Amino acid sequence: MAKTELVGLMECPDCGHPDAEVRKTKTKGWAFRYCPECTMQGFTKSEEGSARMIAKARPKPPAVKPSAPPPVAPPKVKDAPVQAADPPPIVTRRKSALDDFFNR
Ligand SMILES: [Zn+2]
Repeated sequence: MAKTELVGLMECPDCGHPDAEVRKTKTKGWAFRYCPECTMQGFTKSEEGSARMIAKARPKPPAVKPSAPPPVAPPKVKDAPVQAADPPPIVTRRKSALDDFFNR
């Protein structure tokens, strides 16, 4: 399942966890809060409520992966030159009454 977009962090009003996640719903893009500590969720049900929650949230920390080396692009494989060869001509032959006889 694809995760919803993380837009910021805020203190959880239920348990006080400092890094409750503020995310956006996939359907309407409204903000909701999810606390990984106490698993409480709080949903906004309007554009205004969503904007208010996002305004209260602090920006999410930059995604830091300490030991991950920069991605190495796979070596490019050049496509083999396409030969512009004409397809062999389709030989059409008039059907003979003897075809069935010889193909038995
Ligand atoms: Zn909590």
